[in-house]
Amino acid sequence: MPYKITIIGTTFALFHILIVAPFVPFINIFPVALAALSMSSMALALVLAARWPMIDWVLGGPDKSYKAHRWLGFFALSGALGHWVLAVPSGTAILPILSESGEDIGNLALAGLIIMTAMALVRVVPYHLWKRSHFLMGPIFLFSVYHSFFVPSPLAVGSPPWILMAIVSVCGGAAWGQTLLRKRKPMRFVKVEDITPFDGGLDITLRADTTLPSFRPGQFAHMAKDGTRTEAHPFTIAGGDATSRRFMIRSAGDWTDEFVRTVKQGDKFRLSHSAGRFLPKIHKKRNEQLWVAGGVGIAPFLAALEQMEPDCGRSVTLIYCIRSHASSAAMDDVKEFAGRLPQLDLIICNAENGDRLTPTSLTHIMRNRPMTTEAYLCGPEPLKAMVKGTWETIGMNGPIHEEQFDFRSAYTLSELKSIVRPSVYWALNWVSKKKGIAHAATGS
Ligand SMILES: Cc1cc2nc3c(=O)[nH]c(=O)nc-3n(C[C@H](O)[C@H](O)[C@H](O)COP(=O)(O)OP(=O)(O)OC[C@H]3O[C@@H](n4cnc5c(N)ncnc54)[C@H](O)[C@@H]3O)c2cc1C
Repeated sequence: MPYKITIIGTTFALFHILIVAPFVPFINIFPVALAALSMSSMALALVLAARWPMIDWVLGGPDKSYKAHRWLGFFALSGALGHWVLAVPSGTAILPILSESGEDIGNLALAGLIIMTAMALVRVVPYHLWKRSHFLMGPIFLFSVYHSFFVPSPLAVGSPPWILMAIVSVCGGAAWGQTLLRKRKPMRFVKVEDITPFDGGLDITLRADTTLPSFRPGQFAHMAKDGTRTEAHPFTIAGGDATSRRFMIRSAGDWTDEFVRTVKQGDKFRLSHSAGRFLPKIHKKRNEQLWVAGGVGIAPFLAALEQMEPDCGRSVTLIYCIRSHASSAAMDDVKEFAGRLPQLDLIICNAENGDRLTPTSLTHIMRNRPMTTEAYLCGPEPLKAMVKGTWETIGMNGPIHEEQFDFRSAYTLSELKSIVRPSVYWALNWVSKKKGIAHAATGS
């Protein structure tokens, strides 16, 4: 677990123990604190999923919110499992007639939480199936609220932790309401105006009949086929004017494969408003910039260069990494921008010519650049990891901004096996040691 998450997670868990400890008997402190931790984590996860722009802004964009949302999911499940293992029936129920159902509903909520978390983690569960099922997290939270307030509890009605749980329940419920409303937000109709294929995808322009909501270079929008309740996928806006949007779409799975194979001029789609906080700096008053793009990751930088004016501000170095000339959707564009913008330094790394971006070549590119240079990365994870590693090695202290192209970040089965295996071995070890000690004690 990353260091920062460990600190935040431990503080968050300790906070719940401190809030609960003065108000329940010693034996109940951990089970009640774990239950409170689970409830707060679920409520906060629902608040992040509600996608209130201010909260996204504070967290640094939707992809960062998703990351926090995932960790809160882990805390919610660990808290609920710990509570389930440690909880002992005690205290009084607000309405004794409902206490039995409170218990049953609690078990149902826990089972739901386990299943939903497993579905989110396992990549074999198709994205759209997972996305639809994940919606059930709202009802699961409401079940947990019912359980928290109607099961016999050592927490006195009106005590500070009880009030905290009441506030958390209202916030979580309101956030889920917002998510239901958000889903009803209309998307704008657009038609396919222009299609340019490249190896592995399409460079496409969509046009609307009326002015579209504005976007900032670097932002993305969700696109869905015309029709109700069709699945929507996020793509970074690669450019556009008041009524058009350009996208570079790579075949990556079932929806994009079909899109790339079948889309034709005149096809109708729905487009959401733009979102995202990956915003390469285009104004003159900027720090030195390093922009690293891999494949369709060039999209946010194309939108930025399209809106950039020639200036004598700090230089912008764009490193465009491609598999081959045929797979590069934007070669002509970037060369044209390099011709128009004196501040732009264009470096093309074409693997087909054996020209890959490496720690050595990047270190060479970065020599004599100010340590405060800002980096913007958009592309495959290994490329971003290499740049981040090199950035640290050469002691750059400018901020690194990156866009996640995979909010879910689910694991393959072999990845899950390598994650779970050590903890299973540890648990088995612990049990056999316990058994060994027991045997030694009883001499049996
Ligand atoms: C902020 C952002 C910007 C993106 N910009 C571009 C772009 O400019 N060009 C481009 O080709 N791709 C882009 N992507 C990736 C693109 O959204 C996925 O490749 C696409 O959604 C895959 O859908 P699929 O059904 O074809 O594949 P699937 O097989 O369903 O999924 C393939 C991968 O894409 C992810 N994915 C699937 N559906 C979604 C969804 N609705 N939302 C988020 N992730 C999803 C899955 O987690 C999985 O890892 C972007 C993704 C994000 C999050």
